[in-house]
Amino acid sequence: MSLSRLEEIPSKGLFHWIGMRTCLQCFICQKNLEMPNGSTHYWYYKKGYFLEVPLSIGLSFVDWKFALGNLAGYSFHRYCDPDWDLMGTNNSEGRMANELPVVGNILFGVSSIYGSVFRRHHRSFLTHFPLVSTLIRLIFVFGIPFFLFDYFGINLIGNGWIMFHLGFVAGLSQADAIHWYLDKSFGGE
Ligand SMILES: [Zn+2]
Repeated sequence: MSLSRLEEIPSKGLFHWIGMRTCLQCFICQKNLEMPNGSTHYWYYKKGYFLEVPLSIGLSFVDWKFALGNLAGYSFHRYCDPDWDLMGTNNSEGRMANELPVVGNILFGVSSIYGSVFRRHHRSFLTHFPLVSTLIRLIFVFGIPFFLFDYFGINLIGNGWIMFHLGFVAGLSQADAIHWYLDKSFGGE
């Protein structure tokens, strides 16, 4: 790594003290960070796959459903991030509308409702803290569909698939944790 790269390491927070020695520096700290906007968050999110893929492969030897859920949950962050609490269209909402025909439009409806409900709680504990905000968003997205499926006798959580759902929450929580950490440490959206 060149000296100019080293100089770009953010001067505070976790990245600083893990940055100097470990290989994490190579893909985490090479980008200068001051105010993470949507595209900066997305950049770090994509880098997170360098950890999530090996982690999920490792987990698959313990419980493949949990591992699959972990990777699916992390990937869902592409369309479902803590900045849903902004009214208007954020980056993840742009991606869902562009990349997911029909489903993306429906999801945009859900995220818009969410944004209007939490519009005064941007970057709060409820909308940004990992696991807490993760579960609230998941209830917004899957609460009604799961209820309807259950009403018609289709149980998506039964038959051993509970581990998939737990993995999904774990994976999405990890992506939310990266977002939360960046917001907390460097300010921005
Ligand atoms: Zn944020």
